[in-house]
Amino acid sequence: MSDEVLIVGGGFAGLAAGVALAEAGWLVRLLEQRRHLGGRTRSFRDPTTGSVVDNGQHILMGCYHATIRFLTTIGTLERIHFQPRLAVPFLDRGGRLTRLECLDWPSPWHLLLGVLRSGSFSWKEKVQVLRLGRALRSAKENTDRAAGESVAMWLSRLGQSASLQRNFWNLLCLAAMNEDPQIASARLFERVLRLALFTSPADSRLGIARVGFSECYTTAAAAYIESHGGRVETGRGVRQMLIADGVCRGVELSDGQKLEPAPVISAVPWQQLASLLPCDLPRGEPFFATALALRPAPIISINLWFNVPITELEFAGLRGTTIQWLFNKSRILGTNDNYVSLVLSGAHEHVSRSKQELLATALQELGELLPGVRRAKLLHSLVIKERFATFSPSPEAQPMRPSARTPVRGLILAGDWTATGLPATIEGAVQSGYTAAREVLEAS
Ligand SMILES: Cc1cc2nc3c(=O)[nH]c(=O)nc-3n(C[C@H](O)[C@H](O)[C@H](O)COP(=O)(O)OP(=O)(O)OC[C@H]3O[C@@H](n4cnc5c(N)ncnc54)[C@H](O)[C@@H]3O)c2cc1C
Repeated sequence: MSDEVLIVGGGFAGLAAGVALAEAGWLVRLLEQRRHLGGRTRSFRDPTTGSVVDNGQHILMGCYHATIRFLTTIGTLERIHFQPRLAVPFLDRGGRLTRLECLDWPSPWHLLLGVLRSGSFSWKEKVQVLRLGRALRSAKENTDRAAGESVAMWLSRLGQSASLQRNFWNLLCLAAMNEDPQIASARLFERVLRLALFTSPADSRLGIARVGFSECYTTAAAAYIESHGGRVETGRGVRQMLIADGVCRGVELSDGQKLEPAPVISAVPWQQLASLLPCDLPRGEPFFATALALRPAPIISINLWFNVPITELEFAGLRGTTIQWLFNKSRILGTNDNYVSLVLSGAHEHVSRSKQELLATALQELGELLPGVRRAKLLHSLVIKERFATFSPSPEAQPMRPSARTPVRGLILAGDWTATGLPATIEGAVQSGYTAAREVLEAS
């Protein structure tokens, strides 16, 4: 008979752990409190327009090796379209359009030559980017010096001007780290840049789902687990972990049912884990007390439907505006609903603004970026605030992130917030799921 493992949480981390353990011959029982899988990467149908809407636009990169492996295992990788080479359009106020396109050269020249040829930078800025590229290639840069620094401090130290930071690096930092460069950890950003931009042209490519994101993984992952004898149960909330004498023996569900004895992988965010642990545990155990003190960072998505198409671009980085990225959902999903989604990451100072206010700002700025918008009629809008989108990746947060192995025997942690060495991303979540699965295998 196979061994049983309980997994709490049906986002990327829990499903990746479940698929890995099912593949290894374990009987997986995955419990998700909501009626649907997908956690913070999910899609739904907008009742007014019928369009498929993501809770926020999600982008993958070629360097998401664990995610690519996961999607390959469950058979859905072809639902993501990867660019042949990194290409990013930028829109400025006034409608000026420029592009950064990487070349098919070995790293770092694919990027550096792309920057040199791009109209997105002045010559002075191009020299500054080259300087940063040179610093990144020197092993010395990845030293204690960057450990306590914010991204903004680090960029300034490496001679990146205020306008280059505002119009380029800050957009990348917000997209990759979901945090203001004044707050985000330089060391983590540096690692992201090395992995995403300075490893190979293939790793630098962006990948965008051609369907709602739930369709990229939730049903297929559940089917994979079930086809290996496991169970994926939605609408099954866990009330608490059954922990006594330093050992986790199972879980108690919201309806009082107890599932034991089995190792438990917690694949829920830290704020939710806090309520599942016996209250004396975080108080007495610094491992949990430290991890549960992480702080959140919000993302706002402003979804707009017009009567006519407002751009031919598939997506664009937006320069000089509060809104940071535009995604032309109709173009991406191949629909004719004239639907675009705007993203505002690291949105601490905007999350308490009313949806009407956010909408007004977005429309005014969009009109400045794409003057044609002023003649278009807005038919429908949907503002989504994800207050707990990710943890805030400040320098202080990095040592607080816990390992998969905990001081409680039989309790293993997964989730994008654990110590993956990456910001809170799909790739971090999948890697954490794989790490948790390995812990279960090793412990057995
Ligand atoms: C708007 C937005 C945009 C983003 N954009 C990107 C992007 O472009 N690229 C990228 O790589 N990443 C992006 N991210 C981050 C990415 O979504 C997350 O890193 C990833 O989804 C985290 O997965 P997870 O499995 O760790 O956690 P989650 O997805 O949060 O999954 C946890 C699951 O646990 C369940 N749960 C909680 N408590 C219980 C309980 N008591 N019992 C049972 N189940 C429970 C929850 O319902 C949830 O389904 C974005 C996030 C947001 C919110």
